[in-house]
Amino acid sequence: MSLIHPAYQDRRGLMLVISSPSGAGKTSLSRHLVADHADLSLSISATTRAPRPGEEDGREYHFVTREAFDGMLVADAFLEWAEVHEHCYGSPKAPILQSLSEGRDVLFDIDWQGAQQIAQSAPDDVVRVFILPPSMQDLRRRLYARAQDHADVIERRLGRAKGEIAKWDDYDYVIVNEDFDRAYAELAHIYHAERLKRARNPGLTGFVQGLLTEDI
Ligand code: 5GP
Repeated sequence: MSLIHPAYQDRRGLMLVISSPSGAGKTSLSRHLVADHADLSLSISATTRAPRPGEEDGREYHFVTREAFDGMLVADAFLEWAEVHEHCYGSPKAPILQSLSEGRDVLFDIDWQGAQQIAQSAPDDVVRVFILPPSMQDLRRRLYARAQDHADVIERRLGRAKGEIAKWDDYDYVIVNEDFDRAYAELAHIYHAERLKRARNPGLTGFVQGLLTEDI
C-alpha cells in the first residue's frame, strides 16, 4: 500500500522500531509488514552471531566476524548497536540514511537498547512498538516449536525474556501477540496512522494553501 495523493508527496520517512523477547513473533510481523508496503524497508543488522539453519547472509543479517564488527564501530558505521545474548548486533547507518532521505520508511527488528539509542538520536522520527507474548508458557512453546536453537540457548533466552519485557513502558505502542492476524492488523494500523501524522507530511502545507485559494 502506498499513499499516492500529491498532498502526501515529499513526506519525511519514519523509523519504526519493533522489539520483543525472542519468540514473541516480532520477526514474522516485521517481515509481513515490509512485504506488504513498498515504501517500507527492513534494516538488515550486522551481527557476530553464527547463522541459524535456513538463515542467509544479507537476508536475515549481515553475518560478520568480531573484527569486522569492531572495524565498523571504529568507522562510526552504526546508527545504534548493542550486545545481546553475548553477541554484538548493530544497524548499519548508510542504507538507513539513504532510505530516509528518499522519503522511505525503515523498520528495525532490534532490542530495547537499540530502540533507546535511536529514540535519543532522532525522537521525532521514531515510532516504537513492543510485542508481548500472551503468556510465558506460550513463549516457551514457541521457542521450542521454532526448533532453531539448542535447548540450553532457548533456556538462556527465556531467562532473559522477563528482563526485556520489563522495558515495555519505554515504547509508544504495545501489542499482545496472541493471534497473528490480529496482531498484524494492529501493527499495520499503527504504521498507517503514524504515516499520516501532519509533521511527517510537509507537502500538506502547499496542498492546503491550494485548497484555500481554489475558486469554488
Ligand atoms: P536473534 O539472535 O534472535 O536474531 O536476535 C537477538 C536479539 O537481538 C533480538 O531481540 C533482536 O531484535 C536483537 N537485534 C537484532 N539486530 C539488532 C541490532 O542491530 N541492534 C540491536 N540493538 N538489537 C538487535
